[in-house]
Amino acid sequence: MSGILYLVPTPIGNLGDISRRAAETLAAADFIAAEDTRVSVKLLNHLDVRKPLVSYHEHNRRESGPKILERLLAGESCALVTDAGSPAISDPGEDLVRLCAEAGVPVCAIPGPCAAITALSVSALPTGRFAFEGFLPAQKKERRRRLETLTAEERTMIFYEAPHHLRQTLADLAEAFGGARRISLCRELTKLHEEIARMTLAEAVSHYAENEPRGEYVLVVGGAETGEKTVSLEDAAALARELIAGGMSKKEAVRQAAAETGAPKNALYSEILRDE
Ligand code: SAM
Repeated sequence: MSGILYLVPTPIGNLGDISRRAAETLAAADFIAAEDTRVSVKLLNHLDVRKPLVSYHEHNRRESGPKILERLLAGESCALVTDAGSPAISDPGEDLVRLCAEAGVPVCAIPGPCAAITALSVSALPTGRFAFEGFLPAQKKERRRRLETLTAEERTMIFYEAPHHLRQTLADLAEAFGGARRISLCRELTKLHEEIARMTLAEAVSHYAENEPRGEYVLVVGGAETGEKTVSLEDAAALARELIAGGMSKKEAVRQAAAETGAPKNALYSEILRDE
């Protein structure tokens, strides 16, 4: 009979957030698969758990995953942990869960800390329906395309971001959704310097133009208002181009196209300038 793969969430900052069941599962597993064994050893020492560790991360999952599966099929049980939070949520694990499911190995997820859900709960934005977007693509073109697909999204959206990309991401979000959209910046959740800043995207852009982003962030962004105009930037630009071709000045064409479509004026202007 095969063993079980346990997905064990670990604290996102405050060690007190490890649950009793998570600790018991780590202590009972035959071996632990960790994203970074050096990080996990600290937690395991804190819990006084000594177990054989194997490494399972983004760059070795193709080789490591089948080896873990083999041990599970042979009857051993494995606890999967990542550096912080819930495995498989913007973290290694998704592939291993799929491998196990395909091979008929039971997977058991222990509930626990997750930065996305912690941030959503405290965001003061609607929580009834939400879309988890994780990290936006790093590549400019891909990122733009992803954001375009989200301009009409009515659900609250959750993004992860690293501090050194925060300014660019806020600028991109403001360009895609307009500066008036609400955002809750949830920083250093569960840690000493936890901070929840609720403002508009335009305010967030100017705040971080003057203040250095520090620590870990989850960005929770309000969805589009029902009935909010959802014309794509491309369609708005096409309208502006038509107006320009009809003899209108660029400035006036952008103003009118923005007013008619609801597209953000700055983004529309940059789009038109790209034609030159
Ligand atoms: N699997 C993890 C989870 O369940 O939360 C997420 C891992 S993802 C690689 C790391 C990202 O999560 C960070 O870049 C940040 O956006 C967010 N994050 C993790 N811990 C956080 C914290 N204490 N406060 C704010 N954001 C955090």
